[in-house]
Amino acid sequence: MPSGSLPTGEDGGRGHNSFNNMKSLQELTRPNIWSLAPYSSARNEYSGKAAHVFLDANENPYNDPNNRYPDPLQMQVKERISQLKNIPVECIFLGNGSDEAIDLVYRCFCEPKVDNVVAIEPTYGMYKVCADINNVEYRPVLLDENFQIEAETLLAACDDNTKVVWFCSPNNPTGNAINRKAIFDVLEKFQGFVVVDEAYIDFSREDSITKLLSRFPNLIVFQTLSKAWGSAAIRCGMAFASKDIINIYNKVKYPYNINRLTQEAALERLNNTFEVEQWVKLLLQERSRMLTAFAELPMCKRIYPTDANFFLAEMDDAQKAYDYLVDKGIIVRNRTRITLCKNCLRITIGTKAENTELLAALRTM
Ligand SMILES: *Cc1c(COP(=O)(O)O)cnc(C)c1O
Repeated sequence: MPSGSLPTGEDGGRGHNSFNNMKSLQELTRPNIWSLAPYSSARNEYSGKAAHVFLDANENPYNDPNNRYPDPLQMQVKERISQLKNIPVECIFLGNGSDEAIDLVYRCFCEPKVDNVVAIEPTYGMYKVCADINNVEYRPVLLDENFQIEAETLLAACDDNTKVVWFCSPNNPTGNAINRKAIFDVLEKFQGFVVVDEAYIDFSREDSITKLLSRFPNLIVFQTLSKAWGSAAIRCGMAFASKDIINIYNKVKYPYNINRLTQEAALERLNNTFEVEQWVKLLLQERSRMLTAFAELPMCKRIYPTDANFFLAEMDDAQKAYDYLVDKGIIVRNRTRITLCKNCLRITIGTKAENTELLAALRTM
């Protein structure tokens, strides 16, 4: 092997990887987090031979099964996700919704008032809210008129204190998948983490970017059970990344961040993929019907391409249409005050009956 070239996954002790410019994980982690000794729960400390008397956690012996603390690392759920997505268990984190995974990016890696993050704009609002809560500078970079962007534009907004570049693909609220080349180029050139939020990936023509996890040590991918999996109420988000990144996440998260009821419901849902596939098929059919119908509405000026279970429609007057629909008991999302989304409504695909009701209402407006 020529000097300077390193085998996959090895960093020659310098903390650098042969496939990109990533700084070492230690350089990218907040010093207090890097040196943190995590809380060790009773359920963490005991793992060994089979046992049947558990007097270690001050639990009540009555009220089975809710009397016991849940598995802090949710191994059963992760093993099922690992099978489904072909990702090693050690590379999976489960959070109280993706929202927990988003917040942990800041708490683990971004020093308040020092570090910053760069994100596409417009996008999901939680990246900025969590940045503000953690007192971390948030640098939005405008998408172009097709809601796309090039790597160079994002990289130009980065400096030595930029820890994260945020992508959301398919993007919310625009609906489109961000071009792969831009994400790929940022992954190759950027020295910090690249987060790709794939909340809507099950509705997309694109493959999940998780396939690139073994190639890019700086890649963090989010998915969720809240959308295609129909389980928003149970609050279960997923993060996929290198084992080392996941270890840092595990150190910082609340010990029992996913409760037993959620683990049980998640497992049940993940064991019935057939039903989920049927839902997605139906929603994609309905999406295509809705796009056609909206194109024929006189008050609709433009429909943006979508890879998600919603679409963005530019109306003559979004506020007027929104108010009219509310009056009829139909709620859509008014995005008119979002950058680049003037007069846009974001419309989620519902059941056939719900979609038909929305169309009927707009046709008689
Ligand atoms: C809906 C959505 C999520 C899901 O969040 P949860 O906390 O997992 O429910 C994540 N990211 C984006 C962009 C979303 O639109």
